[in-house]
Amino acid sequence: MRIDILTLFPGMFRGPFEESIIKRAVERRLVEINIYNFREWATDRHKTVDDYPYGGGAGMVLKPEPLFRAVEAITGLSFWPTPEVPEPKRLVPPDMAIILVSPQGRVFNQQVAGELARLRRLVLICGHYEGFDERVHLHLATDELSIGDYILTGGELPAMVIVDAVVRLVPGVLGAEEAPLEESFSDSLLEYPQYTRPADFRGWKVPEVLLSGHHGRVREWRRKQSLLRTFFRRPDLLEKANLTPGERELIESWRRNPPESPFDP
Ligand code: SAM
Repeated sequence: MRIDILTLFPGMFRGPFEESIIKRAVERRLVEINIYNFREWATDRHKTVDDYPYGGGAGMVLKPEPLFRAVEAITGLSFWPTPEVPEPKRLVPPDMAIILVSPQGRVFNQQVAGELARLRRLVLICGHYEGFDERVHLHLATDELSIGDYILTGGELPAMVIVDAVVRLVPGVLGAEEAPLEESFSDSLLEYPQYTRPADFRGWKVPEVLLSGHHGRVREWRRKQSLLRTFFRRPDLLEKANLTPGERELIESWRRNPPESPFDP
């Protein structure tokens, strides 16, 4: 997979992409990550990327020219409308996404990360100031993603979040291929509690079942813990979860008669 990030602050990406799993994925050529300063594609002498909003108001708006030119240079696509193709972004191949990082986008989650991990190419555009000229939203981006209902100063942290979540789903990036399947959200459920050694830490003991070596019982316990956790912490997720009729009944019984503790129904 190739990921191109357009930003006014390329230096911000230096630390996060040069450590740990992302670094290893790049070194092993499972992903290629390129960071571009789109100021380079500004059209005037002063390399201007922003301007005052038409109609007045506070703050500056990112101009369309540098962003369109940058995406055109990087992808080799043309976004000039013609009578035959009035909306050129429709020509973006289906295995590529041009993503505007914006609080107005659809909310990024594990499912979206999975969708993006299947693509061949991602272009992420990071905003700043008051955001983008509307023509960038309308005629350049094929998708718009928000990382949550709050406003950050720029799109760099959201882009890092998206890249991190996507890259770890690219086949081969994580050591054990099956690991992502068991995680929180992969089944619309939160993950069960995890323990490691020591079995007794300051008197806090690891649940007996995990020491039993009985795989069937461990699997059953984990599934129930997963349901319980989700029931207590994120009941909204249960609506979308893939549950057996028995599990649905169990949850109904918890609704009628809620367990006292999330650990012990
Ligand atoms: N005025 C804009 C609005 O109300 O939609 C917000 C602009 S924000 C200060 C500047 C940039 O930060 C945005 O263009 C976007 O790239 C990024 N950004 C801020 N919050 C974000 C979020 N929750 N998710 C994704 N990107 C965000």
